[in-house]
Amino acid sequence: MSFSLTEDQVAIQDLVRKVAREKVAPRAHEIDRLAQYPQDMFELLREIGLFALPFPSEFGGMSSSLCACLAIEELVRVCYNTGYLLAVQWTPFGAIEAGGTQAQKDQYLHGLASGAIRGAIAMTESQSGSDVAGLKTSAKLQGDGYLLNGSKIWCTGASVADFILVAAKVKDDSPKGKICLFFVDTQAKGLTIGKKEDKIGARGIPSCPLFLDDVLVPETALLGSVEQGFKIVMQAMNTARPLHAARGVGLAQGAIDLAADFLSKRQAFGKKVSEFQGVRWMLADMQMQTHAARGLVYHAASMVDQGIHGSELAPFAAMAKCFATDTAMKVATDAVQLFGAAGISADYPINRYMRDAKVLQIVEGTNQIQRNIIADSLLGRAPR
Ligand SMILES: Cc1cc2nc3c(=O)[nH]c(=O)nc-3n(C[C@H](O)[C@H](O)[C@H](O)COP(=O)(O)OP(=O)(O)OC[C@H]3O[C@@H](n4cnc5c(N)ncnc54)[C@H](O)[C@@H]3O)c2cc1C
Repeated sequence: MSFSLTEDQVAIQDLVRKVAREKVAPRAHEIDRLAQYPQDMFELLREIGLFALPFPSEFGGMSSSLCACLAIEELVRVCYNTGYLLAVQWTPFGAIEAGGTQAQKDQYLHGLASGAIRGAIAMTESQSGSDVAGLKTSAKLQGDGYLLNGSKIWCTGASVADFILVAAKVKDDSPKGKICLFFVDTQAKGLTIGKKEDKIGARGIPSCPLFLDDVLVPETALLGSVEQGFKIVMQAMNTARPLHAARGVGLAQGAIDLAADFLSKRQAFGKKVSEFQGVRWMLADMQMQTHAARGLVYHAASMVDQGIHGSELAPFAAMAKCFATDTAMKVATDAVQLFGAAGISADYPINRYMRDAKVLQIVEGTNQIQRNIIADSLLGRAPR
């Protein structure tokens, strides 16, 4: 592993940092306060070609998880919601690239990479989140298609998506059936997208329930095959984990930026608050923790870029996600403390960082689940 970024990587970091500061930062507060989908930010990311970044050059990308981490880090540093737009687009792309048939790749990947179409993924149900195997949505063979019935919650991006990858169980010889993903057009008959959640964080990107009432999809809507499709997709999510971890690093660094700026202007007891040792040491600890998280994230991303995957990658990706997002929560909470009462006021942006950090500890596999992955790997158990 190299400990310095290449010229190309620095160029991406510089470009996204500039765009983030000049164009994204001024919109961040309003997107959060109004819980408003940032269509203008989606268009901005599309214009500069960021949706393709982790993927191969045929889609306009750089085949680099590390480059994608650098980009998402810079965006989340100023606006969680804008950074989240990349993550929401990258998840279905990764799933289709890993598990889809050639025809599905041809149909969807170029559009996702260019931002011409939007996707979402729906696995979580009211009784099953971490325990994916507990999902109840069913897919029954009917003629030369499948009939989907069930409901989902927390489908992020559903109300702006063109299609949703819906997880459902297909009956086979096994007692519980096989989980498969199906492409469902958001205009499909029988699909209802419910009212978006009123969230404490990630407020700009809608998360909605779905109701599937006899939704008929063709056989070709099954992602990959009944035997392999879902397994491959779960592995792709493992590979994508450093990208979500990078969101934690960006968020923590953004909270430090704001705290440092505030402290160097705020006066108490006749001097700048940034001169008090107790405050300086807090700030130093926040930076140390964030930089340590960055090291774990870049290491896991570099492993992905070297083609390391499966059980070899899993504990490193889990450590990166868990540590970076726990760090984001701790650093953002400390930053609010350093703002004093201003940290509680909606007029200041810092409370947004604390609310968004809490989301990161829960999404993409909760941090308890990440700890299970790390412990399983230490103790020589197959991941559950
Ligand atoms: C903003 C947001 C966006 C989301 N977007 C999507 C999306 O686009 N698509 C989608 O399908 N889902 C999405 N989700 C759902 C998310 O994936 C789930 O919330 C997450 O997997 C946890 O599931 P749960 O909420 O049902 O909690 P549960 O699984 O019920 O867990 C409850 C608590 O128990 C802990 N726990 C559970 N099992 C274990 C265990 N074995 N060991 C230790 N602790 C355990 C959990 O960590 C958690 O603290 C989103 C959630 C949020 C908040």
